[in-house]
Amino acid sequence: MAWWSRTQGLAEQPKKSVPKGIWTKCERCSQTLYEEDLDVNLRVCTSCQHHFRMPTEGRIEMIVDPGSFQEHDRDLESADPLGFKVDGKRYVDQIKGALRKVGPGDAYRAGTATVGGLPVEAGFFVFEFMGGSMGSVVGEKICRQFERALAHKRPAILFSASGGARMQEGVLSLMQMAKTSAARSRLREARVPYIAVLLHPTTGGVAASVAMLGDVIIAEPDALIGFAGPRVIEQTIRQQLPPGFQRSEFLLEHGMVDLVVPRKDLKKTLERTLHWFERGREPERRTGTVGDDVVDPSAAE
Ligand SMILES: [Zn+2]
Repeated sequence: MAWWSRTQGLAEQPKKSVPKGIWTKCERCSQTLYEEDLDVNLRVCTSCQHHFRMPTEGRIEMIVDPGSFQEHDRDLESADPLGFKVDGKRYVDQIKGALRKVGPGDAYRAGTATVGGLPVEAGFFVFEFMGGSMGSVVGEKICRQFERALAHKRPAILFSASGGARMQEGVLSLMQMAKTSAARSRLREARVPYIAVLLHPTTGGVAASVAMLGDVIIAEPDALIGFAGPRVIEQTIRQQLPPGFQRSEFLLEHGMVDLVVPRKDLKKTLERTLHWFERGREPERRTGTVGDDVVDPSAAE
């Protein structure tokens, strides 16, 4: 007989199984959170205010006025111009898989909507779709969104959550950085406002182009925002990076973003910003009524 056995001495605690999908452990404070509470609280931890990633559908619902979102270009699909294949997996099959999992529209959804009663052209990166990577479809959809904003003189709002350019389309993905930036500059020339909202994570070619070009740049708390990863930068500059580097609060401190806004205040802040822009327009070009509660967006809490 073995001199030691697990059943002797300390009895093992019976494992409590947690049904999947009912509880979620907070990534930051390890608090166990009830899924339903998390949804009610806009997927923000009730204990430490950690902002979980929010599904795009819920994000759209949270931001636009109820029932006002009229989506455009949902049927655009990526071609596979390079016949790309990595680890035996073809790009076309990856797209098919993402379409099955997430639905049509590639990694970007754009539509005409109202926010606080004011018409806008709103666009949302879909992180669930191949990490929100920007390929030719995403670039095209952003350009079309900006062109609609320009044609109707409506502010454009873009919510970014992306790992960057989509490597499966090679240089065609990189071209989207220039393409979207050029479309954005036409808005500037026509003095049509563009508000960028940076969500966790906004990195790579998206951070290095359209996401950082807003007239007003708003970020959610503690979002990772940057071009290259910290390890790559440390190896390149041979220096250790300061704590909190590439997070919203650090970028605010260093003048890269204008506001860091908790999720629960985001819609209100956008409404106030839109009304502030609206007030600055010539009266004959105004699109909506303006209340007396108009304030400078920098005064948002
Ligand atoms: Zn927490």
